[in-house]
Amino acid sequence: MERLKSLIREVPDFPKPGILFKDITTLLSDAGGLRQAIACLADPFRDVRIDKVVGIESRGFIFGAAVAERLGAGFVPARKPGKLPAPTVRIDYALEYGTDALEIHEDAVERGQRVLIVDDLLATGGTARAAADLVTGRGAEVHAFAFLVELDALRGRERLAAHDVFAAVHY
Ligand code: AMP
Repeated sequence: MERLKSLIREVPDFPKPGILFKDITTLLSDAGGLRQAIACLADPFRDVRIDKVVGIESRGFIFGAAVAERLGAGFVPARKPGKLPAPTVRIDYALEYGTDALEIHEDAVERGQRVLIVDDLLATGGTARAAADLVTGRGAEVHAFAFLVELDALRGRERLAAHDVFAAVHY
């Protein structure tokens, strides 16, 4: 895990002053780091049935699709509004300042399916919580969440409390 951590670049004051941005592009561009990150995210779920992996736009797509392939599951993108072409379901959620929204195709998950939600980073948990609500709103079950990075001090895990939360690297 220390190796993974060493491959994540910290960029101060991006995208705005006061934010220490965890830049995973340095990890993605390292062949061994990329392989290790995907293995870390998928391995805890090898022995459970996962039907779909939902990846959150946009860095969740990179890991989510790779994890889905490893688990023999399908992949579902949760996207910002207006990007998906077929009929969608939408959820609006609060950010620190203002609101944001996510959509999935309404036929992307089915009643009774077991879903793993994947993103690069867990901060306050608002984004992951919204993705989970989209999934459960379609009658599917959230089995767990998997993140490459968790910012422990923001206590996002508490907002996801009803489910298992896995994170490879902690700050
Ligand atoms: P949150 O909804 O607060 O858990 O925020 C999670 C989303 O914001 C994820 O999709 C992250 O990619 C992004 N994010 C939040 N804080 C950071 C950070 N310090 N560095 C990189 N990405 C972040």
